[in-house]
Formats: sequence, structure tokens, C-alpha cells
Amino acid sequence: MELINGYPASMRESIALVERTRPARLGRTFPAMSLDERKALLLAHHPDYQAHAKRPLRFGPSKGMLLNHELADLFEARPLVRPDLDVSTIDADVDLLVIGGGGAGTVAAIWAVQSGLDPARVLIATKLRHGDSNSTMAQGGIQAADRPEDSPVQHFLDVMGGGHFTNRPDLVRALVSDAPLIIQWHERLGVMYDKDSQGRFVENPGGGTSRNRMHSARDYTGLEIMRVLRDEARNLGIRVIEFSPAIELLCDDWGHVAGAVLLNLETRRYHIVRAAATVLTTGGLGRVHIQRFPTTNHYGATGDGLVLAYRVGAELVDLDAVQYHPTGAAFPAQMAGLLITEKVRGLGAQPLNRLGEQFVFPLEPRDVEAAAFIRECGERGLGIPTPHGICGVWLDAPMVDLLHGPGTIRAALPAMYRMYMRFGIDMTRDPILVFPTLHYQNGGVAADEHGATRVPGLFVAGEVMGGIHGKNRLMGNSLLDFNVFGRRAGIAAAHYARTHRPGRLSLAHVAEYERMLREAGIETTRTAPRILPDYRGKEALERYLDVPV
Ligand SMILES: Cc1cc2nc3c(=O)[nH]c(=O)nc-3n(C[C@H](O)[C@H](O)[C@H](O)COP(=O)(O)OP(=O)(O)OC[C@H]3O[C@@H](n4cnc5c(N)ncnc54)[C@H](O)[C@@H]3O)c2cc1C
Repeated sequence: MELINGYPASMRESIALVERTRPARLGRTFPAMSLDERKALLLAHHPDYQAHAKRPLRFGPSKGMLLNHELADLFEARPLVRPDLDVSTIDADVDLLVIGGGGAGTVAAIWAVQSGLDPARVLIATKLRHGDSNSTMAQGGIQAADRPEDSPVQHFLDVMGGGHFTNRPDLVRALVSDAPLIIQWHERLGVMYDKDSQGRFVENPGGGTSRNRMHSARDYTGLEIMRVLRDEARNLGIRVIEFSPAIELLCDDWGHVAGAVLLNLETRRYHIVRAAATVLTTGGLGRVHIQRFPTTNHYGATGDGLVLAYRVGAELVDLDAVQYHPTGAAFPAQMAGLLITEKVRGLGAQPLNRLGEQFVFPLEPRDVEAAAFIRECGERGLGIPTPHGICGVWLDAPMVDLLHGPGTIRAALPAMYRMYMRFGIDMTRDPILVFPTLHYQNGGVAADEHGATRVPGLFVAGEVMGGIHGKNRLMGNSLLDFNVFGRRAGIAAAHYARTHRPGRLSLAHVAEYERMLREAGIETTRTAPRILPDYRGKEALERYLDVPV
């Protein structure tokens, strides 16, 4: 296959049409959809609305909730540990166990210590290394209404509208009210947000937002935030145990959560951790590849926390909706599924079909935008085919420099520019090809505005928690939510830990879960949590990491 500046000749023909329509598109605004148009598009083309792809959950507190088959499979799976596992020998006894070393977990641990817990009695247990997480991969930015022309009320309305008014208002109120405080906290810790020559934050628009309130650090905002949070946790002396996923929660005699069973991925030994309070921050589920979509998510995003929480009786919310980010890379094949931040559209790149025609307003809410891309490639047959068999639509990246001046792409999107240049594609000159990719789980474990679940002793924060974004999250609100609810859960869990002592440890809930599976007629050899994706590689598979011992 002959490549011309990174693209095969077949794709170059369409790029020529894009170049031809570009001058006329400059300065022209494509109209946004009405609410009715959005709804019709979603029903016909968004993967969440395909009834055949889902089935109802057959048991437990959220019985009846419609879930994608891949997700239902996780719940309809057998626990990794047997109920008679000896949990009487305790390897670590702490006030607070934080499960997950991404953004929410690190924030929760920091604020638990700020609230008075002894750092030596706070433990973060994480699956891979501290910081291996979706948080570190976040690109575009974090929302906060901190300018005179904006307000938390305006932010509230945007979040509710983006979520189709299915969000829990009390959680959204907490999210938007705490947002300015979080940015100030980050500033004090040393996060280097983009600023103008006057020292003011540069704030950009995002899909579905009515004001410019996206704070970013170039296109590696998550990496910058995590750099600072990890340092802070280290400075405070918080202990971290790596390569040790939680594979089951532990309860006490009263059914309160009281720690977890960890699996050391190196030695395959179980570690029993007893904790007065537990905060679950295991993140998302992209690596479950719902409806066989590629994903933007990190390698450990296998939805573990959902299963662990459900087994002890927590409720789920809005898990019928998952987020397909409209702009995953579709070419070259080596980048398939990787995120192309919404910031690219925010800066003016237009979505175009094979004929170089714009077919959708660039900043519709994510689900609407993704459905429009799917329709263009599917029903309308106007996508751009790639040599590796998938189809995509163009994102006319050179518009960014045309609108904002030469050098904008290299300054505002340096990581993305370099990523494409590695494959010979210069996004300052050529458009880039995109297609929706599995990005975010929207729903999760139900909790109140302090991250408390209905199971005493169990708190949640971050992507594993549901209800904040309803059926659709807007850009920049997840970096915000892990900070807001990580902080709130850390403070609330510290208070709980000071006032509760765990009783004798028990795995009775595991026996109960097995009973519910049998009663629902589910006979399976599947096990959960999954820990790592199915294609984890021969070496890891040979070690049978997730087969009951
Ligand atoms: C590529 C990409 C770009 C994004 N860009 C943005 C953006 O610009 N703005 C925005 O607001 N949001 C963005 N998001 C979403 C946002 O980054 C995440 O939703 C958020 O950071 C999740 O934080 P978290 O702490 O809940 O999960 P994570 O940061 O993923 O952390 C979860 C941690 O738990 C660990 N873990 C998992 N299972 C277990 C287990 N069984 N036991 C122990 N540990 C476990 C994981 O290894 C991980 O360290 C982006 C996401 C991705 C993937």
C-alpha cells in the first residue's frame, strides 16, 4: 500500500474534497439540533438504544436493570474466592482502605489524612502502579464555573441537560458547587493550568456547555493533575500497595464492609486487609469492550468495583447507559480507539463526511455526536473506509490553526500532534479520521453526596460511582467528579473510621451471592472481577490470575 503523507491514495481522494470545501466552511456555523431531532437520532443510531444488545439483571438489589450483555456477564459470574476462605489471619489492619490508585483514590486518601487520620493507617491498594489509570490519560480538561460571566447554577443546568435530566440533582449540586474550590486547591498544590499573559485561566468550551469553563493543561490535563496528587500523597506518607487488586470485599458480623481480599499479582498470594472504612475507586469498564467497541481506557479498566459493590448489596444506577466518545482514532490501525480530545472540536475542527461536507454541529452532547457519526458511516454510507476495514469520518484539524492562528495546534495539542506525526500524519495540514470509541461508564454504584453507599462502611468515588452524570456525561465533568467526590468520600470515610470499629471478618455475602446465582438459574464457569482484559497475553493467561484458587 502506497502511503502519501501517512494516508493511502484511496483516502487522499476524499482529503482532496475536504480541502476543496474548506474555504467555504471557514466562518460558517453548522446549526445545532433541536431536542426532538437529538432524540430521534439517538433512538435510531446510538448503541445504548439497541435493545438486542442488552438483558435485564436477574437478581440482587438492582434486579431488572437493563445492561449490555458484556456487563451483565460480569454480574452473572462466580466470585474468585470461596466463602470458606480463611480470613482470620489479618495481613494489614488499617483505619481506611482505598481500593484503586487513580484520581479518586488518591484524592480520597489525601483528604482522609487532612481530616485527621494517621497516614500510616491509610492504605491505597491498586491493581497496577499508583497512577496507572484513566485519570492519568485524561486530555482535554476540567470544568469549573469560576468566572463572573458564569455560575455554578449555569454549570448545574448544563450537567442536567447533558444527562437528559436523569442525573441526581443533589449530586450535581455538590459537583458544581465544589468545582471552584477544587481548582483553587489544585493551584495551591502546583497544578500548572494554561493561563493567558495576564495570568488568568484560559477557559475553553466543551460539548453541551453554555459557557467557556474548561481548564486545561495543554492536552495532558490528567497527567498534570495526577503528577501533583501523587506527590502530595507521597509527601503525606500515605502507604500504597501496587499490583494488588481487590478481588472481594470483606464484611463483618453485622454485614458492614470491613476491608478486602487483595490478590498479589506477583506471588498470587491473598492478602487480608481489615479496615474500619473502605473507599472504592476502581474507575471504569472500557476494557470490557461493550458491543465490541474499541476503547480509550487504560488496561486495568475492567469494571471490578461494580461487581465487588453489588456482591455486598450496594445498588446500581444508570448502568444501562455507557458513553461512546465520538472521536476515537480510526486511522492508522495502531491508534484505533485512542482518544482524540473534544478540545479539537472545541477549537473549531469540523466533522466531515467522505464528500468533505459537514453533517453535524461539532459540539452536540457526546451521545448525539457519536450517533451522528454512526449514521453517517452506516445508514448514509458516507464514511471514509480504511484499509484495515473500519470506517470513519473526518475531523478537519487544520481549521484550528486557520481559526486561531498558525502554531495553535502545536501549542494546545502537543501530545496529539506528536502522536500523529509518528505515523507521518501532520494534523496541521491534513484532517484526521475518527469513529466512536467506548469511553466512560456513565452510571455506577449508587451513593449520596458524600459517597456513602447504602452498605455501611462502603464509600465510592470517581467513575465507579453513578448518578452524577445521569445517562450522559459532558466533557470535563469527570476529572471534576473524581476530585469533588474523592474529597467528600475521603472526609466522610475518615469520620466513619473514627467512630466505627469492624467486627469479626466474614465472607458470608459470597455464599449468599452464589445462592442468588443458583436461584436465578445461572450456571456458569465465568468468574469476576476480571482484573485484566481477555487479550492479556500468553504469559499472564498461563498464570491463571483470575481462576479461583
Ligand atoms: C483517554 C481518556 C481521556 C479522558 N479525558 C478526560 C478529560 O479531558 N476530562 C474529564 O473530565 N474526563 C476525562 N476522562 C475521564 C476521566 O479521566 C475518568 O473518568 C476519571 O479520571 C476516572 O477517575 P477514577 O479515579 O474514578 O478512575 P481511574 O483514574 O481509572 O482509577 C482507577 C484505579 O483503580 C485501579 N483498579 C481497578 N480495579 C481495581 C481493583 N480490583 N483493585 C484495586 N485497584 C483497582 C485502576 O488500576 C486505577 O488505578 C478521560 C478518560 C480517558 C480514558
